[in-house]
Amino acid sequence: MEKQKNNIQTFEYKAEMKQLLDLIIHSLYTHPEIFLRELISNSADALNKIRFRKLTDKNILDQDAPLEIKIEVDSKRETFSIEDTGIGMTKEELINNIGTIANSGTLDFIKIMQQQGKQGLDEKLIGQFGVGFYAVFMVTDEVTIETRCSDINEKAYSWKSTGTGTFTITECEKKHRGTKISFKVKESAKEFSQNYRIKEIINKYSNFVNFPIFLGKEKINTINALWYKKPEQTTSTELNEFYKFISNSSEPPLGHLQLSIEGTVSFKALLFIPENAPYDLLRSIHDEKSLNLYSNKVLIQSDCKPLLPEYLRFVKGVVDTADLPLNVSREITQSNPAMTKINQVITGKILSLLDNWAKNDKEKYFKFYKNFGPLLKTGINSDFYNRDKIIDLLRFNTSFTNDTNEFELISLKAYTQRMKEGQKEIYYLSGEHKEILDKNPNLEYFKENNIEVLLVTEPVEVFIMPSINEYDKKPLKSIDKADIDLIQKNKIETPEDKLSTSLLSVFKTTLADRVENVLISKRLINSPATLVVGKQGMDTQMEKMLKMMQKDFKGAKKILEINMSHPLIKNLSKMYIADSSSELLKKCILQLYDGVSFTDGNIPQAAEFTQRMVEIMQEATN
Ligand code: ADP
Ligand code: MG
Repeated sequence: MEKQKNNIQTFEYKAEMKQLLDLIIHSLYTHPEIFLRELISNSADALNKIRFRKLTDKNILDQDAPLEIKIEVDSKRETFSIEDTGIGMTKEELINNIGTIANSGTLDFIKIMQQQGKQGLDEKLIGQFGVGFYAVFMVTDEVTIETRCSDINEKAYSWKSTGTGTFTITECEKKHRGTKISFKVKESAKEFSQNYRIKEIINKYSNFVNFPIFLGKEKINTINALWYKKPEQTTSTELNEFYKFISNSSEPPLGHLQLSIEGTVSFKALLFIPENAPYDLLRSIHDEKSLNLYSNKVLIQSDCKPLLPEYLRFVKGVVDTADLPLNVSREITQSNPAMTKINQVITGKILSLLDNWAKNDKEKYFKFYKNFGPLLKTGINSDFYNRDKIIDLLRFNTSFTNDTNEFELISLKAYTQRMKEGQKEIYYLSGEHKEILDKNPNLEYFKENNIEVLLVTEPVEVFIMPSINEYDKKPLKSIDKADIDLIQKNKIETPEDKLSTSLLSVFKTTLADRVENVLISKRLINSPATLVVGKQGMDTQMEKMLKMMQKDFKGAKKILEINMSHPLIKNLSKMYIADSSSELLKKCILQLYDGVSFTDGNIPQAAEFTQRMVEIMQEATN
């Protein structure tokens, strides 16, 4: 419908337009500031189009005009304007592109939206029509567009609307090619006539737009969209500056990765691995700066969580894909299949990069591993698709390595390659640190027999190791456990001492409420006794950590193993022969138990322990 009066043509929006405007302003966008992102992105599109046209068409208006965007604000008059030297619009284009909603699915879409609220938002539908321009009505009550297209013979037109029922179009004076959009800001949107605020928003959303954006005389966007450059054309200074900008960091990154993927989903990405981890790496789930999502150099979402799995959330950088509409909302990115695909590709590439470092740049890898290893490892229990890759990235101290030299840390692969002839299992022991573990009596057999044992000291690993059932078809076993299938029978396995079984029963009755069982040890060499975990029991260190976390967590009873060839145990045997109900024998058994339990991390009853000790010492010095 249109009316004409003094050359001013008045058009009526289609019925659904009003509803749509209402919807855009009230539900599609939640931050009014993004009106600027939308206008800049439209200008950038228009500039891209004219740049393309210039390649083949020499007969256009303002052939040599610089391709740029100019923004002016006046805080006193509360006005805003943005002008570009882009392709401009003909009258028909003004009517068709701005005045109506091009897509016929729109009305259906609105109906669904109204019935279901936001839940009904369908990303495919929303991508089918452009609605970005209307975001401007969040910050103003009336907009003027003046535009002149690139055809030399075309006239300039002015479009005006309050975004409520109608818009008008009239011929106007505009000498140069391009589009100017201007308005007075609403009472509630005064901030958008302030210089500093506009600058802030450009920095946030449009810093990488590849046409200069001027605010007054100042050029605001200074940083190139490096991810569009060929990797061999970017310098390390540029990369470092870019990284510092996006990560708010003062130091350069440890490494980076540039991707340009063409496929079911096409995207470019520039990803960085920081040099240092935040002090609360494992806890900072809401680290504000992860990956930023762009569409053709315009920011769609900062810190876009769905682009990375949790365990890689330390990676910084940008992803740019034209396969998502600009006005996509957070809820949508979470469930969008394109996002899932990008996430998968990125994850695979980062793991390959790390694998490459681990093989070819050990210094870099260990720096990374020390800082981000704890978080990376959590992926073993959450990313089943990449689990094996992450397991291959693990590095361990072992009973053979020197923990002051991190370059000696070995992978599970290296461990299996140097396993002893006939060894069928991978052994590990977990505890607080290597020094304590080295002294653990359960290691004695392994040391004596030259069998390597992985020493696991990191809390995350303590939880993860039991879940890695096997590597390269070889089962992983904690040497804390009683069911270990030891390679050779220990030479003291069959005790010469016939009384050993009777001695065992005294141990059992004396410690009845403290241990699950008492057995003759195959693994002890130098220590008289040790505690091990039953087949079903939990790894010692894991149990210790659970006790710390949950006050009323009670660990399972353990198995006491005794070393029949140890002088102390031999003495106890003698004592037993002399007097099978000796009080001193019982005291010694209790004291021995308290001692090994102490080594195991349990603090004995102090008064009882000391009293018993005094009594035993008294007898010994008698
Ligand atoms: P979209 O950008 O997704 O198409 P918009 O609502 O942002 O949706 O814009 C609608 C259309 O209006 C654009 O596709 C374009 O044809 C036209 N348009 C908007 N701004 C400009 C501009 N500055 N220069 C030329 N054309 C523009
Ligand atoms: Mg747009």
